[in-house]
Amino acid sequence: FLRIIRLIKPYSGYAMLNSLFNIIAVVFSLFSLTMVAPFLDLLVLKGGDEYAKRLADGKPQFEISIEWAIDSFYYYFTSVIMDPDKGKLYALYIICILVVVMFFCKNIFRYFAMFFLAPVRNGVVKDIRNTVHDKVSRLPLSYYSDERKGDIMSRMTTDVHEIEWSVMSSLEATFRDPVSIIIYLITMIVISPSLTLFVLATLPVTVLIITRISKSLKRTSVKGKEKLGELMSVMDETLSGLRIIKAFNAEDSNQQKFTLLNRRYTELMNRMLRKTDLASPLSEFLGACVLVVVMYFGGRLVLAESETLSAALFITFIAIFSQIIPPSKSFTNAFYKIQKGIASAERIYSILDAENHIKDPDHPKHIEQFSDRIEYKDVSFSYVRGDSGYVLRDINLTIPKGKTVALVGQSGSGKTTLADMLPRFHDPTHGDISIDGISLRDLKVRDLRDLMGIVSQESILFNDTVFNNIAFGYPDATREDVERAATIANAHEFIEGLYGGYDFQIGDRGSKLSGGQRQRLSIARAVLKNPPILILDEATSALDTESERLVQDALNNLMQNRTTLVIAHRLSTIQHADEIVVMNQGVIEERGTHDQLLTNRGLYKKLFDLQAFK
Ligand code: ADP
Ligand code: MG
Repeated sequence: FLRIIRLIKPYSGYAMLNSLFNIIAVVFSLFSLTMVAPFLDLLVLKGGDEYAKRLADGKPQFEISIEWAIDSFYYYFTSVIMDPDKGKLYALYIICILVVVMFFCKNIFRYFAMFFLAPVRNGVVKDIRNTVHDKVSRLPLSYYSDERKGDIMSRMTTDVHEIEWSVMSSLEATFRDPVSIIIYLITMIVISPSLTLFVLATLPVTVLIITRISKSLKRTSVKGKEKLGELMSVMDETLSGLRIIKAFNAEDSNQQKFTLLNRRYTELMNRMLRKTDLASPLSEFLGACVLVVVMYFGGRLVLAESETLSAALFITFIAIFSQIIPPSKSFTNAFYKIQKGIASAERIYSILDAENHIKDPDHPKHIEQFSDRIEYKDVSFSYVRGDSGYVLRDINLTIPKGKTVALVGQSGSGKTTLADMLPRFHDPTHGDISIDGISLRDLKVRDLRDLMGIVSQESILFNDTVFNNIAFGYPDATREDVERAATIANAHEFIEGLYGGYDFQIGDRGSKLSGGQRQRLSIARAVLKNPPILILDEATSALDTESERLVQDALNNLMQNRTTLVIAHRLSTIQHADEIVVMNQGVIEERGTHDQLLTNRGLYKKLFDLQAFK
């Protein structure tokens, strides 16, 4: 809860204005209630003697105190009554006007308070959403293989929403209600300390009873949710297993199972409804009891005609007491809601607090351009930290500048994993990878990734225009830059044919384009970035033969004068690579040029023959 409160800091100005206007509103509401006293005075005190006595004392001496304020008010009020031109009806008229004005002011200020609360409430939620989204895009890929995507999505949306509705909507109450309760309480103490003490004495009993009930209500509601879940899963199984239920004549027994669960659930819901319904009459009765206590002891004070409490003041006291109940109620309500919201906040903070172990070094080394070689040295890798199930073992690999190294091997042999370590999507568990002799861990992640372009099997595009997808990450790119990149990527022609050309909206993940077109857009994106190092991970495997040719041409354009790590499914596409590395179950089984490997008669030859048959 404190962490959420800290989020308010940037909006503290607004929050302060909110509190200020709330306090002013409470004060006005208080004033309007104190009008009850002179009003009763006016109705009950019939004789003129009392009034004359008050005026006889003269105008009260000025001092800053509540007594002075009350006395001066009564002085003027009485002088109006005693004025032969004005009289009691005129005084009544004044009271009515005053009450209306005060209620008007109270509500104006109440509105101001809410007016300034809006930016606080929405601002905090906006900030949470921003930080979560930022963190989610910065966390390493490995974080997402351990978490369920749906769960993360629900944290980003539902739980943020829950915070907005439970915490933020109750936030004002947690600041406002205690203030109004305290202001009302102080007034009650001023009117009658002993009576206020009686009220406070009954408080613990009331609180105890109410929390008892709400706790047992919560228990029943949790049980109810579980039972409902069971019920839903039976319905689900019935629907999906309909064929089997019918084939085995199991309708009756299945129905029996359902009926039993349904009856249990209904019983539980009955209990819950009855408890919920108990809350309202109970709290009303408790309130009435407290009121009776106040009436009895207050009434005794008034009847004793003690100096401390007049009938009019006593009625005012009760009026103010009645005003304390709504904020107390909304305060306890806010308390429960915040408890609910904190559960959501914890889910969100578990994302925000997740450690990102792929981070910049404290003293990063600089690399302006790639000039010599990439080197994998005794690299082993396991997806689960501390696990011995290595996906890669003792990989030694050198990619000299300007050369093309190809990785081949069966699916699951670790090719993607090996390539992913170059842009530090994962760090090696053992061993090290270096560029020009500098370990990747000593480079700024940003600088490192600036050196590379990646084209993978599934083209990852965004629901935006063709132009923006190619210029992705380069907002300053000009139209010429983008068109040149598209031409190199064999994409310019088909883009011109689209409705709107470069401004064509490509749909979710590029759903309005064909697979080959999507892939050529990804290649154009890599061309525009113009990186010295290229990683191509099965860039053509998902395509049909026709578009594969177009994409392969585009790739050949892209690979010119660059250092490339290419993973290929179809061996024909990498025959001209400077070195071909054959992977098998996480280790390098063979390496060499195409011709060397064929004469080797090893795994490569076997794979090659298999494909040649197709
Ligand atoms: P390839 O690209 O050669 O088909 P991968 O590098 O994708 O192979 O996968 C190598 C091995 O690592 C596979 O056995 C796969 O099950 C495992 N693997 C891949 N990704 C993950 C992951 N995120 N978490 C755990 N294991 C993974
Ligand atoms: Mg792969």
